[in-house]
Amino acid sequence: MSDSIVDKVRDAGVVGAGGAGFPTYVKLSAKADIVIANGTECEPMLESDQHLMTTMAEQVLEGLSLAMESTRAGSAIIAIKKKYTSAIQAFEKHLDRYPNVRLHFFESFYPAGDEFVVVYDCTGRSVPEGGLPIEVGVVVQNVATLANIARAVQGNPVTSRFITLAGEVAQPTTLHAPLGTAYEFLLDQVGGFREERFSGLVADDLALVEGGPMMGRVVPADNVVTKTTGGLLVLPKRGPVVTQLTRDLTTTIRRGRSTCDQCRDCTELCPRFLLGHELQPHRVMRAINYGLDLPPRTVTAAVLCCECRLCEAFACPLELAPVTYYKAIKQALREQGWKNEIHRNRDLQPHSMREYRRVPTTRLMDRLGLARYADMHAPLRATLVQPDSVRIPLRMHIGAPAQPVVKVGDQVKTGQVIAAKPDNMLGVPVHASIDGVVTEIANAYIRIERSK
Ligand code: SF4
Ligand code: SF4
Repeated sequence: MSDSIVDKVRDAGVVGAGGAGFPTYVKLSAKADIVIANGTECEPMLESDQHLMTTMAEQVLEGLSLAMESTRAGSAIIAIKKKYTSAIQAFEKHLDRYPNVRLHFFESFYPAGDEFVVVYDCTGRSVPEGGLPIEVGVVVQNVATLANIARAVQGNPVTSRFITLAGEVAQPTTLHAPLGTAYEFLLDQVGGFREERFSGLVADDLALVEGGPMMGRVVPADNVVTKTTGGLLVLPKRGPVVTQLTRDLTTTIRRGRSTCDQCRDCTELCPRFLLGHELQPHRVMRAINYGLDLPPRTVTAAVLCCECRLCEAFACPLELAPVTYYKAIKQALREQGWKNEIHRNRDLQPHSMREYRRVPTTRLMDRLGLARYADMHAPLRATLVQPDSVRIPLRMHIGAPAQPVVKVGDQVKTGQVIAAKPDNMLGVPVHASIDGVVTEIANAYIRIERSK
C-alpha cells in the first residue's frame, strides 16, 4: 500500500504547497517517527491555509494518516495557531478517529512556520545545522499538501489551490483558482484596487507581492497561480515591504557600509541563532562591510540562513539587510560548487532567551507599515473561479521541469497530464487545470483556452 501512496502522490503532481515546491513523494518515501502538519501560516495577511483547514479538515487528517502510513510514523502533530478557532474546531470534530494525532498550539509570531522552529517547538528535537527534519525522524508537510495527498490517493491530481488576495484590493478574499490563472483575472474577481484608500494611493503607486510580505516577491500582473502560491498582496510601492523586497545588492551594501553600527540586534532576534545555529548576521555585516579578516566560516554560515528576513524587516533599527548578503553568498557558493561539510553541528543548544524573543505578528505588521490591514480579513469564496485561459508553468516544483506530452490544438480535460515527469529525475507531472484547447506550448508553460 505504501508504495502505491508514493506512486499516486507523485503521479498526481503533489509538491510542498507552503514552500519551494519540493516533490512530496520523496518525503513520503522516507521512514519517520512523527509527521507534522504545518498549519502555522506565519506570513502576515495570508489566510489560505486557515480556510483550507476549516473547510477541509477531514482531507487534511486523511492526508496526515496516509503520510503516517507511508513513512511508518507512529504519531502525528498538527501545528496550528491558537487563534485559528474555527479550524481547531473543525479538526476536533474528527480527532476521535485519529488517536495518534494531536494538536500543538502556536501563538501568532514570526517565523512560526519555519520547519526548524516547528520541529523544535512541537517535538523538542533540534534539526541539525544544514540538515533536514528527517534526520531527527520527522517529516513536515504543509496542510494544503496533506489535503492534496488525500485527493491524490483518490485519483485527483493537483489542479487548483486557495489563494488570499489582500491589501489595497476592493474586497479582500481568499479565492479558489485553477493553476495558471493570471493575477490580473484574480484582481478583477475581488473588485480591483480599493477605491477608498487610507493614503489616497493610485494604482501606479501600488505593487503586487506574490506570497507574503516577508518572503514574497514583487511580480507583474500577468504572473500566474502555481502550486506554491498562497497569497497575492497589493501594497504601496513606497512602503517598507516593497522598498525592501526590491532593494538591489549594491544599494544594500552601500547602506550597510555607511550605517551598520554592529549593535547585534539582527543576531539577537535571528530564529536560527536562537535555535543554537552558528549564524550571526552582525558578523557577516562586519566581514563584508569592512573587509575584516574574520574566519571564512563566518561567511559560509550563510548556508544556515532560512531567508526569513526578520533581520532586515524587524530586528535592524536601520532596515539593513544581512539576509541580502547571505543570499548573495549562497548564490556564489552554489556557483563554486561548494558543499557544506563544516556547518553540520548536531549538538545544538537553543538560546536561554529564545522564548522571550519571539516576534509577535502584530508588532511585525506595525514595523512593516501593514497595521492598517491588521483587522481586515479575506473570507473564502470556495467556488472555483473560471478564467477563459490559463498559462500553466512546467516547473512549479524543485527539480526538472515537466516535459509537454500534448500539442497545440489538442483538446484536454481538467486533470489530464499535459506534461510528464522526466525519467530518473526529481520532478512531477503537470495536469490541465481547465477543460479546453492547447493554444501554445512554450519553454516554460502550456496555455489552454477554455472550451466555449
Ligand atoms: S534572514 Fe536574517 S533573521 Fe532570518 S535566518 Fe537569515 S540571518 Fe537570521
Ligand atoms: S541590526 Fe543592523 S545595525 Fe545592528 S548589527 Fe545588525 S545590520 Fe548592523
